[in-house]
Amino acid sequence: MFAKEEIDQLLDSYTDFSIATICSHSALQIFNGAKELGIKSVGICTEASRELYESFPYAKPDEFLMVDDYSSIPVDELIERQSILVPHGSLVEYTGKQIDDLPVPIFGNRGSLQYESSREKMFEWMKASGLKSPKILKPDEIDGPAIVKFPGAKGGMGYFVVHSPEEYYTKVGEDTQTMIQEFIVGIRAYVHYFHSFDGGAGYKTSYGRVEMMGVDRRMESNADEIARQLSVGANIPISFTVMGNQALVLRESLLPKYMEMGRGVCDASKKLFGGIHGPFCIETIITEDLDIYAFEISARIVAGTNLLDNPYSFFTHGKEYTTGMRIAQEIKDAFKKKKLKEITY
Ligand code: AMP
Repeated sequence: MFAKEEIDQLLDSYTDFSIATICSHSALQIFNGAKELGIKSVGICTEASRELYESFPYAKPDEFLMVDDYSSIPVDELIERQSILVPHGSLVEYTGKQIDDLPVPIFGNRGSLQYESSREKMFEWMKASGLKSPKILKPDEIDGPAIVKFPGAKGGMGYFVVHSPEEYYTKVGEDTQTMIQEFIVGIRAYVHYFHSFDGGAGYKTSYGRVEMMGVDRRMESNADEIARQLSVGANIPISFTVMGNQALVLRESLLPKYMEMGRGVCDASKKLFGGIHGPFCIETIITEDLDIYAFEISARIVAGTNLLDNPYSFFTHGKEYTTGMRIAQEIKDAFKKKKLKEITY
């Protein structure tokens, strides 16, 4: 892992800053946020993506840095532009392990990556956060619906459900690389938070405050259209590939639990790896008894924040306010208060 001190030295040389990201995932929202806050934005872009990012005047970056593919981050050009790199799901996917050693300040904390890249470590983090999680099963413990996840699978792709050890061994064989979780039946809620080093809203944490920005529900194929599938008599196995997101509001009595969960994740992250900063998401399922199970934490902006129709950030900021705007505001505040080092790594 690239030394934090070296990132801090780079930041000492910054006399101004720009916000940079890869043109993918939630980049439109990130560039729009920077524009709204009057901050220069830089889009790392391939020729194939440029036309799309040119076509939204209020969400296109001020400057494009063209690359042949997203695995090559133009480090020198970014440093020249005094950039803070904002991570999103595609940045992590395209750069892989390289991101650990990228000599560019990254908004957030790359210490979270090792917790995110291993499902076992992720469950450790969730436990330390006080979250209730689905049981992890050994193949012979399967006794009812269980979801099978392969390492490195993205966006639910390739997951399937089994009901017995025999079904598991038939479908998977002796492969021990999978994680098997009890299948939780309920309503999925992907809750978006923002940890601020000195925000004025939300619940207090051990190192700042955590705000709720919004909630979405992912639309996954074909799980979310299963009724249509059954209605035409098609017997296709359930699958969970993410296609998009819909906004969701929670019954208000659930909000205190979710705020506590957000705080728990921040406080645990502080103890485990120095704290998460900025946006994160807890992926949950609420059962009919109103038990909340968390099955993943994403320690960065998630694509569900691209939705505008969420009341929680409105209640916090008094206007329609995206996570992209919130990121720009946080970096701007930290730069002004000479605290960039506290929220980047
Ligand atoms: P993940 O890759 O862990 O975000 O999971 C992808 C999708 O699989 C989720 O969005 C859920 O729809 C579904 N899923 C994951 N874990 C569980 C679980 N333990 N019980 C029920 N559904 C799950």
